[in-house]
Amino acid sequence: MKTIYMDNNATTKVADEVIEEMTPYFGELYGNPSSMHSFGGQVSKKIRQSRERIAALLGCEADEIVFTSCGTESDNTAIRGVLATKPDKRKIITTRVEHPAVLGTCRELEHHGYTIVEVAVDKQGRLDVDELRDRIDDDTAIVSVMQANNETGVIFPIDQIAAMVKAKGVTFHTDAIQAVGKIPLSLAGSNIDLLSLSGHKLHAPKGVGVLYIRRGTRFAPFMLGGHQESGKRGGTENVPGIIALGKACELAQKHLEEENSRVKQLRDKLEEAILASCPDCMVNGDRQHRLGNTSNVSFEYIEGEAILLMLNKFGICASSGSACTSGSLEPSHVLRAMGVPFTAAHGSIRFSLSRYNTEDEVDFVAEKMPEIVKKLRDLSPFVTT
Ligand code: PLP
Repeated sequence: MKTIYMDNNATTKVADEVIEEMTPYFGELYGNPSSMHSFGGQVSKKIRQSRERIAALLGCEADEIVFTSCGTESDNTAIRGVLATKPDKRKIITTRVEHPAVLGTCRELEHHGYTIVEVAVDKQGRLDVDELRDRIDDDTAIVSVMQANNETGVIFPIDQIAAMVKAKGVTFHTDAIQAVGKIPLSLAGSNIDLLSLSGHKLHAPKGVGVLYIRRGTRFAPFMLGGHQESGKRGGTENVPGIIALGKACELAQKHLEEENSRVKQLRDKLEEAILASCPDCMVNGDRQHRLGNTSNVSFEYIEGEAILLMLNKFGICASSGSACTSGSLEPSHVLRAMGVPFTAAHGSIRFSLSRYNTEDEVDFVAEKMPEIVKKLRDLSPFVTT
């Protein structure tokens, strides 16, 4: 059975061009980039090229790129690295809909005496920017707001937020892990001080990430050891991963516009077909300001997990909005923050597409969804008619 992969916000296929670029660095080119000899030197040169490719996509300088092991490390490091330089400030401002990489870090810091403010979103997942502004005070060390939400795809006005935070003299971090490669961004003229990205969300492998740190930003390294990454992140580099990420960013830059508009058309076709063929369903998130690849749909009276299992029978990969915690299926914190009714939040499914999806795949999923929903509703104790 063919796999139809529509779970690209979870992870993506590594592009063939990326595999080709990184492969020699597992084999014959195994030198350590820190070595003095030219065997290692050629690896170091290639890492420099990768840094430049990533900087070109982000619109920043190559020396502002710090390689990490993943997006989670970048988020942790950004927050902790800034706090360490401001021991007298004890407040962190973030949002209710961040990824656990940010929320989990903040909640742990709360146990160490930090005050955490989680700014609300409205029913469409849009951030209350006025609340954010009002909550910034002299005790605020850092504001961390994601660029695009991984569950709904909702995009926040990050340049406007960064400018507002900067005007208050506070450091600003954004988790851009779902945004990079999907929407254009330029750090050059922005007020973003730190930005996280993750390789496996944009067709590079798992195990490599980046933390962008604007020149002049006060930052204390989290990972101590060697002098790698100009002392900002010790540890011998994940050479193949870094090279892969450079290539993936080059490809993203080259194809961003045409690919993303094609993916958006596919997503829209799928979403419209589902809305037209399945009664009692709705799209979660602001449909105007949303990543072009993401569709989060709630189906009343049925469980997201049941839909996923039935999709899986047809080789279709998607994901649900619930997280299985301690035996009970808790609806997603993002949908709860948006005030999505409990029954709808339980029946939510996220389809996230990529450049590798085809129209035939969309047609196949669109054909199967009404059958699946009907079958599950016929069994549902919540449907009374
Ligand atoms: N932040 C966001 C918005 C994400 O979507 C993810 C991954 O799903 C992460 C952080 C964590 O990234 P990684 O899987 O590279 O640790």
